[in-house]
Amino acid sequence: MYIRVSTAQQNIAMQEGSAGSILSQFPASQIHRFIDEGVSATKTKLRERPGLQKLIQSIQHREIGTVVVYDRSRISRNTYEYIAFVKIIQSYNVRVIFTGDKEPAFTSSHFIEAFYALHAQGEGKKIRQRALDAQRHFPSKLIGYIKIEENGQVRYIRDEPRATYIQSLFEKMANVSTTVEMESVFLQYRAKIKRPYLRLFKILNTPFYSAIVLNENQCQQLEYVEPITTQDLYNRVKQNLNVIASADQQVKTEQLSYRMMPVCGYCGEPMSVQSGDYFHRKMATYVCKTKIHRRNAISIQEYENEIMSIIYDYLKSIDIKKMEKMCFQYIREQEMKSKNKKRSLEQALVQINVEIVTFLAIKKRTDALLKRKEQLQVALRDQDAMIKRLDDIKVNFSEMAYLIKVRLISDLIQDSDLWDLAEDLICQISVFKSEIKMVLRCKTFIREGAF
Ligand SMILES: [Zn+2]
Repeated sequence: MYIRVSTAQQNIAMQEGSAGSILSQFPASQIHRFIDEGVSATKTKLRERPGLQKLIQSIQHREIGTVVVYDRSRISRNTYEYIAFVKIIQSYNVRVIFTGDKEPAFTSSHFIEAFYALHAQGEGKKIRQRALDAQRHFPSKLIGYIKIEENGQVRYIRDEPRATYIQSLFEKMANVSTTVEMESVFLQYRAKIKRPYLRLFKILNTPFYSAIVLNENQCQQLEYVEPITTQDLYNRVKQNLNVIASADQQVKTEQLSYRMMPVCGYCGEPMSVQSGDYFHRKMATYVCKTKIHRRNAISIQEYENEIMSIIYDYLKSIDIKKMEKMCFQYIREQEMKSKNKKRSLEQALVQINVEIVTFLAIKKRTDALLKRKEQLQVALRDQDAMIKRLDDIKVNFSEMAYLIKVRLISDLIQDSDLWDLAEDLICQISVFKSEIKMVLRCKTFIREGAF
């Protein structure tokens, strides 16, 4: 697992917590943490980050099978650096899992990874926009332009034929609607403009080509620049790329919560994820890694719907009165036990204090008594902690009962609540070719014959 925090405000626990359900599938001894603290991704080069550096080394030593990380921007906000990382990942056949809620799943395509990384980079850019202000107003060099300085005046004029190529690149990109179409336009223009596609993305993200500079909410016209494209076209391209990016996110694969990953019903091994492709209408699926069970697969959407409906039925069939009664009774018994223990420990302490005074003259005896006294005090603190914990459980339990009773019965329960409950209630989910089997906890509370 790789974690990067740039400031004290950013939370290691948050990044760690979002990975909880994934990490829980691995034995603790197999989880390695690589952490970079106080490192901003926009400023620092990949190689200047010791945690990431160590991770890469471990990958190269074939010690890592899966990398778990919050999102792309944790690796780098610089697309070139990020793609360098992707190449290492791919050449060592490592699996990558992003745990951020809205982060699209990792793909095997450099092109698409670059596309997503550029979105992340765009956000990083906003942060250091001020520093680049002069550069944005007066770039020292920009493909498609010739910079002319006369009598202290600067002008930018079109550099043909590349200016025309860039102009038509903007026109084409305003009209593509899928990543596949996008890729073919890029291939064509990569040859024409003679720049790698990452550079082409950057060109499309440069308002300077429409002779403007964007500041926070307003745009500033640059009189000394001959426009290559129009502001309208620039905006349309930008919007279009956003639509394509968010369409990709809508694929179920991209919402991968990785909550409750299933095991293969035939071999018991954890299943792995095969990402989907929105534009090819291919659904993301869980599939068994074992070759002979390759056909044992289920689309994640179908899987999640199925679990939702089972959990829903299950919760509806809980006899809440019975559950409350049994649970509170159990908690009360534990409380009684703890309180009794506490009382006898307190009595023993009083007794030992008397003995210590009595045998004060005999050193050996006193030492033994003092040691015993210390043990009793530790045991007493444990009981106090236990009583406090039982109190907490009572509160938590009341909340859970409330959640089930009020919200579920009135149909107000949300999917995220159901998932939270699912994680508490389901031990394991096994996928078979024609059915899903679950091992559930708390069967005691189910109404007889209901489920
Ligand atoms: Zn299997």
